[in-house]
Amino acid sequence: MITRFAPSPTGPLHLGHAYSAMLAHDLARATGGTFLLRIEDIDQSRARPRWEAQIYDDLLWLGLDWPEPVLRQSERIPVYEAALAKLDALGLTYRCACSRRDIAEAATAPQEGAPLMGPDGIVYPGTCKAAGLRDSSLPVRLHMDRALDLAGAFSFHESGHGFHTEIRPRPEDMLTGIGDVVLARREMGTSYHLSVTVDDAAQGVTHVVRGRDLAEATPIHVLLQTVLGLPVPVYHHHRLIRDAEGKRLAKRDDARAIALYRDQGARPEDIRRMVGLTPAQ
Ligand code: GLU
Repeated sequence: MITRFAPSPTGPLHLGHAYSAMLAHDLARATGGTFLLRIEDIDQSRARPRWEAQIYDDLLWLGLDWPEPVLRQSERIPVYEAALAKLDALGLTYRCACSRRDIAEAATAPQEGAPLMGPDGIVYPGTCKAAGLRDSSLPVRLHMDRALDLAGAFSFHESGHGFHTEIRPRPEDMLTGIGDVVLARREMGTSYHLSVTVDDAAQGVTHVVRGRDLAEATPIHVLLQTVLGLPVPVYHHHRLIRDAEGKRLAKRDDARAIALYRDQGARPEDIRRMVGLTPAQ
């Protein structure tokens, strides 16, 4: 089993991250497998060396270890561009000139009713789909309809609900509830969906262990794996660690940063107990 923890260095790690990383680590260790660390820093406007350094520091303190060198996504842009070129050659991409505001306005036009929200926000209303724009500085979107046609039937194993189940995303749900997602953002050459898909395959990840908040995006990743001819890992979407009021922890909740618990004298086993994990083996 090869698992991974793939944080974005845009803020301190909090208890939810610690849970995700330790669970991925424990699952790999229990089977004699490997736990990998990947730094998801494609958004250079938000990634900071300081947060990356803190990630290594916190994870080592928690008792985790991983093989070096750590894969950093910012160093792999040409690999993502190659995957994008492959999708383009399959006729699955188009350029989009819409701003967030254009999308919000088109999606809330009186005849459209309330905008549909997908994993990336408002489901793209398709304004540029048939425009044939060629400006290579523009973001790239996926022709969801064509990708679904090309993929045919596809599915993935989910092991995160306490039992194994085979999930078969329904094309009609993906068309209406997800739509033409962005594959390459402006000035980035890639997107979360594309780089996570390419890298899980490149690193031979067999089990993607991550929070349930990302479960909605998984059909996109499995669809991309299918059309790119990449292996489909097992997905283990784990429960989310919530604060005392039942709200999801976010990176801005610095009060729950691992570093702060450390400063207050907590030990790694205290963190394990707080997130409901058994002591390290
Ligand atoms: N980089 C993502 C995050 O920080 C996680 C990606 C994943 O696990 O698929 O939320």
